[in-house]
Amino acid sequence: MPELPEVEGVVRSLAPVSAGRTIHSVKISETVLSAKQIGKEAIVKGITSEDFISEMAGMKILALTRRSKYIYFHVERDEEPYLLVSHLGMTGAWFVVDTLDDIKEDRFRRHVHVTFEMADGGLLVYSDIRRFGELRLVRAESDYPPLLEMAPEPFSDEALQHFLAMCETPKYARKPIKEVIMDGHVISGCGNIYATEALYKMKIHPNRSAGRISKERKIELFRTIVDVLQESIRAGGSSISDYRNINGEAGTMQERLKMYGKKFCPECGTGTKSLKIAGRTSVYCPSCQH
Ligand SMILES: [Zn+2]
Repeated sequence: MPELPEVEGVVRSLAPVSAGRTIHSVKISETVLSAKQIGKEAIVKGITSEDFISEMAGMKILALTRRSKYIYFHVERDEEPYLLVSHLGMTGAWFVVDTLDDIKEDRFRRHVHVTFEMADGGLLVYSDIRRFGELRLVRAESDYPPLLEMAPEPFSDEALQHFLAMCETPKYARKPIKEVIMDGHVISGCGNIYATEALYKMKIHPNRSAGRISKERKIELFRTIVDVLQESIRAGGSSISDYRNINGEAGTMQERLKMYGKKFCPECGTGTKSLKIAGRTSVYCPSCQH
């Protein structure tokens, strides 16, 4: 699943080749069209296929930004601003190509679900193998409340205080620290890979209650998470699973991971263990992490 660094990589590669361009028309795949016809929300959410197609035509892309794991396309039509919000789900990917044949990897080409035909020719394409991603057209963040409920950006000044305050609430104090740091209301954009790495670096057991970790250690843990996220952004993200940036490239962060997906602890050689926390597999070293 793409996490914050991977989404940042998509925004950085997508922005220069899409900002300033105007969408001429939109095509939605048969799979998505027929799912929506029977009332299922598939990829294009909160709007009918017909309305999405007509609303997006003539939309000019002004800029792209990232908020947590969302990509915001700042768009406008007739000088009215809108936000096209994209979440990549498990396997979402964007491509900017001349024709669909230019998408090199078969499985991405076979799962194209939304194609924006640009006024200057060329295509902006959303592909999603498992279809857990979503596209929403809103006037502003306030039109879709989950966007307002996200924790501050982890690199912002208020993020640490927000994290510490949330850890002290009854809701989070008794929960495993791994579940807490992966919760988007507590920290924005820290998913399983980076939570696993940060806890390993800090030698904290993923199942330890948030309330049983001292404030000093929590501050250190937060800074470690930020460091890991920044390191991964610099490495272009991790290419675990189906993440690709718009050039079909994956990052190299997976080569730097110390614990995620490992059988043995690189520090002490002990066999790693795993347990399920909040439905996600949590790998840890039983000897180093307490
Ligand atoms: Zn170890």
